[in-house]
Amino acid sequence: MSATDYEVLDPRFRDCFNRTASVERLWTGGRWTEGPAYFPAARHLLFSDIPNNRMLRFDECDGSVSVFRQPSNYANGNTIDRQGRLITCEHGGRRVVRTERDGRMTLIADHYKGKRLNSPNDVVVRSDGSIWFTDPPYGILSDYEGHKAESELGGNYVFRVDGTTGEIRIVADDFIRPNGLAFSPDERRLYIVDSAGGRTPDLPKHIRVFDVAADGTLSGGSEFADCTAGRFDGMRFDDAGRLWAATDDGVHCIDADGALIGKILIPEICSNVVFGGPKRNYLFICATASLYGVLLPVNGLKTF
Ligand code: MG
Repeated sequence: MSATDYEVLDPRFRDCFNRTASVERLWTGGRWTEGPAYFPAARHLLFSDIPNNRMLRFDECDGSVSVFRQPSNYANGNTIDRQGRLITCEHGGRRVVRTERDGRMTLIADHYKGKRLNSPNDVVVRSDGSIWFTDPPYGILSDYEGHKAESELGGNYVFRVDGTTGEIRIVADDFIRPNGLAFSPDERRLYIVDSAGGRTPDLPKHIRVFDVAADGTLSGGSEFADCTAGRFDGMRFDDAGRLWAATDDGVHCIDADGALIGKILIPEICSNVVFGGPKRNYLFICATASLYGVLLPVNGLKTF
């Protein structure tokens, strides 16, 4: 691939890519890859392959891909907390878990008021240790990405788990399919995707932005950006406040004012992205059956 890998929609995007840097397909052979999380100390990327019920490990040093966890309880989104620990959303387990340094798994959440979660999708950790995740029904709609089941909650919420007490509460209840989420660099705003319009015309396919109060309460929630190519899924910020979001035709770069300034075009439907490499300037992109990457002249936001 080549300079045609990029689409400039605003001159601001010209500083966000190097026209001689090609998008690389690092690996293929999955069914629906998701949940990239980059570990600088290990120089590897962990990611999910949801329908194959496994998590994989891309070794940045030799380019190999191997199995990290199988079965994975149909793991979906992953992130790394402030202590460097892996946090995982499991469709099959209908829960969010943390992998400790010694390999044990700690339950973060699997119930709300006595009812099982639907199928946690994506997760972020704030610097105060709180864990925020979305809970759409994609993992219980069929057996493709989990185990077919009825929703016990009867709704699709965004949850916050207190990092100290473990208390779980709903922070947003007016999404149809809450999905990817990301805090702004100053953590005063939370951006959350509604991906409902990806499968059903006329439903929302946008990113909303909320103000985050000190106690974790959200307010606002207006539309920040509407997807122009299918739907948004996972997304990450760079350290200049631009949002890089997975869509059907690639990765969309959205500046802080909500303007779509450019795209990295990918030949498969994208699910999620993460900045990695020792300098956080290599963007890993999970897209359908494959893992892609591209070296950029921008750096990802440091979140741990
Ligand atoms: Mg997702």
